[in-house]
Amino acid sequence: MNYNELAELVLPNIKTTPEDIEKRYPPRELPEGAKVTRFAPSPTGFLHVGGLFGCLTDERLAHQSNGVVILRIEDTDSKREVTGATELFIENLNHYGIHFDEGAVVGGDKGNYGPYRQSERAEIYQTFAKQLIREGKAYPCFLTAEEIDEIRKQQEEKKLLPGIYGEWSKWRNASIEEVKEALAAKKEFVVRLKSTGDPSNHFKFTDMIKGTIDVTENNIDEVLLKSDGIPTYHFAHAVDDHLMGTTHVIRGDEWLPSLPKHIEIFNALGFKLPKYCHTAALLKMDGPDSKRKLSKRKDPEADVAFFTKEGYSSEALLEYLMTLLNSNFEDWRMANPDASITEFPVSLKKMSVSGALFDIVKLYDVCKNVLCRKSAEEIYNETSDWAKIYSPDFYRVFTENPDYTKNFLSIGRGTAKPRKDFGLYSEVQEYSGFMFDEYYNENGEYDERFDNSLIKDVLEQYLKVYDYNDEQQDWFEKIKDVSEKFGFARETKQYKASPESFKGHVGDISSFIRVAITGKQNSPDMYQVMKTLGYDKVVERLNKQIKRLSV
Ligand code: GLU
Repeated sequence: MNYNELAELVLPNIKTTPEDIEKRYPPRELPEGAKVTRFAPSPTGFLHVGGLFGCLTDERLAHQSNGVVILRIEDTDSKREVTGATELFIENLNHYGIHFDEGAVVGGDKGNYGPYRQSERAEIYQTFAKQLIREGKAYPCFLTAEEIDEIRKQQEEKKLLPGIYGEWSKWRNASIEEVKEALAAKKEFVVRLKSTGDPSNHFKFTDMIKGTIDVTENNIDEVLLKSDGIPTYHFAHAVDDHLMGTTHVIRGDEWLPSLPKHIEIFNALGFKLPKYCHTAALLKMDGPDSKRKLSKRKDPEADVAFFTKEGYSSEALLEYLMTLLNSNFEDWRMANPDASITEFPVSLKKMSVSGALFDIVKLYDVCKNVLCRKSAEEIYNETSDWAKIYSPDFYRVFTENPDYTKNFLSIGRGTAKPRKDFGLYSEVQEYSGFMFDEYYNENGEYDERFDNSLIKDVLEQYLKVYDYNDEQQDWFEKIKDVSEKFGFARETKQYKASPESFKGHVGDISSFIRVAITGKQNSPDMYQVMKTLGYDKVVERLNKQIKRLSV
């Protein structure tokens, strides 16, 4: 067989050679040990939280080694492509602060190793496919869908490995005349790898996460180019990762079964194999004792946008993903409470082999811890950013008087033990709403043990003594005085020692004032709340409640 002639027949329009292409992708000049990684999503839907997890792994490993992380869009499957998905990916990744050195950006590319959308690289793949045909390592296959079905049926009956290989591939050894005839008849064809593997051979392979694994040689004549000349993932990733200088392919372990094919394709192309790191899927509890993969279809939290919408801080989600990434992250965080996650040394060796549990309750805890350490200014800015999109009415109220809102947010912040009132930006609305008339609940619920008329009298008395300029201690003394006046203990201790001597204690009186002013049973420090609200507002609300309780 004259393979040169075959190559010309199959891909006559390809005039470039692998050497021409290699010239466009010179070896990278990077420091020793620098890793080149890439996040390579297919734009077939939303950004999966597992994708973000993988992407964070890519980013950390590249940047902590002074390497490069690339965003490559694997859009070779036009049937499954969702319009706008690429832009959505880019937007979401930006939102999570994942910084790519190279790759697809909205409306184009950034970097010298592109194009970074596979759909723009057809000529490159075809050039390498042509070379493989020229070397007798690939061939055109004109099998129709019906013929392939028939082969599958026969293989099933005979309990043989399914697929096009060996004797099942009638085009593997077709003559040049047969190929010419098929081409003249305008039959559709794909280009397949001419596998030389034997599945009875096994070899050891070291995956950087899974460790040493046993691999069975591939013998499938895998499709390299589909009938439209567009490559399959298997072929495209080999060509791209070679040209882009990827050192570590970090991808989901659903690709592990395809690894033998990939190894054979790399070998056929004469490319050095990158290091493979197959990450286990994120899991969720499914009943008390079983776990399952976080599902794109079943679980709303599989979509990264879910967290954005619900008001999770992007920083907190990344922080939580770090705990799933490396088991020692939490200890490190305890020892380094204020350090940036970028200071944590991520290790492939500490990654879960069998799957990490994505626990939304734990994530929420992390959110509280992250938000309580932020300054009032940060909470103000981040909540505003969230509310602007997801709660515009609240946004208007919240941002009307920034200093007022920030003063309120600063209550209980910046201390050694900051308050953990909320974990989500959406909860800031509930937390701070009473500071604004629009969200203040006039119908707050008082402790049912006490009569309305008593509460009203207490509020009236308090109003008489309330002075905006009181220092905190005097302010509290006055509440104690009111307590005593109404037969309540000045101190909780006193009350506990002899509850029958009192109607209640100072805490109960404080809670009347709290409910009156905030409409809630819980609030941050009332002294500061009242200072922030201002004299007029406090008096207005007390009066309103006195009136309400009078009827
Ligand atoms: N496009 C592939 C996917 O979305 C990427 C796998 C890889 O990272 O190589 O699963």
